[in-house]
Amino acid sequence: MDLLNTLVDKGLRRETPTREEALAVLATSDDDVLDVVAAAGKVRRHWFGRRVKLNYLVNLKSGLCPEDCSYCSQRLGSKAGILKYTWLKPDDASQAAAAGVAGGAKRVCLVASGRGPTDRDVDRVSDTIKTIKEQNEGVEVCACLGLLSDGQAERLRAAGADAYNHNLNTSEATYGDITTTHTYADRVDTVQKAHAAGLSACSGLIAGMGESDEDLVDVVFSLRELDPDSVPVNFLIPFEGTPLAKEWSLTPQRCLRILAMVRFVCPDVEVRIAGGREVHLRTMQPLALHLANSIFLGDYLTSEGQAGKADLEMIADAGFEVEGTDQVTLPEHRAAGGCGSHAGAACGSDDGTGCGSHEGGGVCGSGAASAPRTDEPRTDLVAVRRRGAGTDIAPNA
Ligand code: SF4
Repeated sequence: MDLLNTLVDKGLRRETPTREEALAVLATSDDDVLDVVAAAGKVRRHWFGRRVKLNYLVNLKSGLCPEDCSYCSQRLGSKAGILKYTWLKPDDASQAAAAGVAGGAKRVCLVASGRGPTDRDVDRVSDTIKTIKEQNEGVEVCACLGLLSDGQAERLRAAGADAYNHNLNTSEATYGDITTTHTYADRVDTVQKAHAAGLSACSGLIAGMGESDEDLVDVVFSLRELDPDSVPVNFLIPFEGTPLAKEWSLTPQRCLRILAMVRFVCPDVEVRIAGGREVHLRTMQPLALHLANSIFLGDYLTSEGQAGKADLEMIADAGFEVEGTDQVTLPEHRAAGGCGSHAGAACGSDDGTGCGSHEGGGVCGSGAASAPRTDEPRTDLVAVRRRGAGTDIAPNA
């Protein structure tokens, strides 16, 4: 396919595709999905080899957010039955981080619900960052605390943070449909503040919120312009109890096309599969490793992921290797200016809850089982996190 040959050539040269080319990737048919993965996989291997970076989420403060992001189980008025707790103590956060590091993670992502931190919150998180760095040698720390005020990014950097995550989530044109309590411009401003303070910027998107292909291409091109080191791609987990609970539109093939498009537009950037990996890619997860070079290990903020051991087995079985702390994530031309790798969780963007109600497809009945449809709601795959940070139960790592 001429389109794919062109995109591979551009990706290897770090040249931006046209919007039409990016849209054409999203418009390819399911028959072509392996060709798309193979092409984007060439670009991924050129810049990142077969390495997979593992990141580990620690939810420092869960639920009770005053903001109204429609996709988020922690939002104002959320009826999702998630864990709710206030700030973890530094030692507790460090203990949770240590579990992730022991499981193979090289980056810990410290996330807190809320519009943004107060200066006292920044002090609190600074203590946590210092404790984690003291107790977990070589670990990278990314903070994700919402919108930053002047000077806060610098203070986090001084405390030892390597990176800051704040996602754009969707296109500027549709941002107001998703959230009304802050703006797209607020989000851009925080990513720029993180960048300016010398933090590695991490900013990504959420797919599956009812957006058009044009919206997806818009947000990915905006991200390319902002030039983060890391781009998390979340696939919406439609939590019961949130406004987007019925928004089940993604198929595994659609997720692969989206990841491929992100790889072609951001060829030398850490592309990370974030929330929704297990729910939407399902048995196609290993194919997505040919596109993304980074994933979260274990659980998400408010939902449970597959067992950490299963993540490691999947990476090995697919012929990839976990990136070590002695390896630099980014290609040389990008790593020179920053801390070397990068990451991020996503304030609210990853993760899901999903307390009961509908159940997905499954068939039994009188005789032979039939194959489930790939676009049916899979609420059976959404589990509220009940272990790890904020509980007395061992974390999944
Ligand atoms: S995404 Fe962040 S700011 Fe928005 S509702 Fe969730 S926790 Fe609050």
